[in-house]
Amino acid sequence: MSPTTPPTPVSPTKPPARTPRGEGQWALGYREPLNPNERSKKDDNPLNVRARIENIYAKGGFDSIDPGDLRGRFRWYGLYTQRKPGIDGGRTATLEPEELDDSYFMLRVRTDGGAVTTEQLTVLGEVSQTYARDTADITDRQNIQYHWIRVEDMPTIWQKLEGAGMTTMEACGDSPRVILGSPVAGIAQDEVIDGTQAIEDIKRRFIGDPAYSNLPRKFKSAVSGLPDIAHEIHDIAFVGVVHPEHGPGFDVWVGGGLSTNPMIGQRLGAWVPLDEVADVYGAVISVFRDYGYRRLRHRARIKFLVKDWGAAKFRQVVEDEYLHRKLIDGPAPEVPAVPIDHIGVHKQKDGLYYVGAAPIAGRVSGSALVEIAKAAERAGSNRVRFTPQQKLVVLDVPEAEVAGLQADLAKLGLQTTPSPWRRGVMACTGIEFCKLAIVETKARAHDLVSALEARLTDVTDGITAPISVHINGCPNSCARIQTADIGLKGQIVTDDDGNQVEGFQVHLGGGLGLDAGFGRKLRGHKVTGAELPDYVERVVRNFVAKREGDERFAQ
Ligand code: SF4
Repeated sequence: MSPTTPPTPVSPTKPPARTPRGEGQWALGYREPLNPNERSKKDDNPLNVRARIENIYAKGGFDSIDPGDLRGRFRWYGLYTQRKPGIDGGRTATLEPEELDDSYFMLRVRTDGGAVTTEQLTVLGEVSQTYARDTADITDRQNIQYHWIRVEDMPTIWQKLEGAGMTTMEACGDSPRVILGSPVAGIAQDEVIDGTQAIEDIKRRFIGDPAYSNLPRKFKSAVSGLPDIAHEIHDIAFVGVVHPEHGPGFDVWVGGGLSTNPMIGQRLGAWVPLDEVADVYGAVISVFRDYGYRRLRHRARIKFLVKDWGAAKFRQVVEDEYLHRKLIDGPAPEVPAVPIDHIGVHKQKDGLYYVGAAPIAGRVSGSALVEIAKAAERAGSNRVRFTPQQKLVVLDVPEAEVAGLQADLAKLGLQTTPSPWRRGVMACTGIEFCKLAIVETKARAHDLVSALEARLTDVTDGITAPISVHINGCPNSCARIQTADIGLKGQIVTDDDGNQVEGFQVHLGGGLGLDAGFGRKLRGHKVTGAELPDYVERVVRNFVAKREGDERFAQ
């Protein structure tokens, strides 16, 4: 510009136009990584870390692990560093992530559909006894989670798990994670359709395929012939439904998810037959891979894309660009009045029985898993399934063996006619092992159940459906707090004496099924950990006193 050229006038009301920033969508040409996570995945496909663990890190020990692998790619094989013992949640905010790292790992074994044989359950238990200090938690993703794992032991652990037909591949990471399925698939009398084959198809076609191992973020999926897998809060879910012309198949939901920006999934309005579920799964995961937002991690879940596009456009892209055919329109699934958890004794369609039992908040042990397998086999069964409520179900039990199995499970602390509190409490990993945690969760869940069982005997009979109490150790939502009757989000709170102590922000009245919606966060409604039993007791007594007819908590 010459010194004499007058400056271009700028409108006082109109800001200068800015080039819109890309969201890192591959399909729009943003192939260069826009953050360190994307860089790490581009530099080396995370599935390649397995060879380095076996050939280098297992021999060299924890200190030999490349930091990029340690805090990134290890997750694709179910491995996270666990929290160093003794660091309290209040200090966590002031520490760098590596200061929280212990040299031990948490390991998730992916058990799609929560399905294991008793032989597999025995191996899961024995691996825990030998390599994980007898720890084992049933997660709300129907996985088994160990703690105290050493990298040196990973090759042997994989050998044992894979020898029994199990894997840790893509149990975590920005990948197609474990596929939830009905714990009673194939045996439930009221099931619309058995989704087992679809889960197998998805596993065979997509899990461990490098073409789908670099997604913008995690991809959570579910396939069930019953509405028993929390389909409203998955990245993709297939729920059994009967089409008036075509018969049993699945209704497709996309874009649900919890964490700090919860969203209920949207129906695509499409009916999919059993043998096409994997095709539709493949198309949806491809849309996510190609169009998903990669610039900001907190906007990288598929729910943000679905929200921005809407279900109609999302379905159109799935059909036009990936399936190259139109989907069949279909009806919505029926939703249950109360969540289905499969606890108790139920008759199967083949005349045998399934028996659901309730550990508290999923906490079992390796020894318990071995004993559960033995008890199931004594009762004539060789199949056990984990549930999305952190419980377990023994399948295929002859009627004459049911009582004996119930007694055996009770000796292991697994009640088959549990109190509503034991049945309705879930808890995430919490400060015992999770680096992100602010408060203790599992032990607190145990204490809470004990307290409520002792205090609320007079109202228990009047509670027709379990009142769910979900406990999270931080603002993430691994225990699905927004969908609980009473959701508790861990944080540091101030007690009556002005001390900073572990406590919870309370969400009330969330639910799924008929009551699908997120609990209301009550501003300023916080409770200390010590006050928790008193608080829940008060809320429950208040509900029971004021309830009209069969009113549910979330109504
Ligand atoms: Fe960890 Fe938070 Fe998830 Fe609990 S909710 S397991 S504390 S990340």
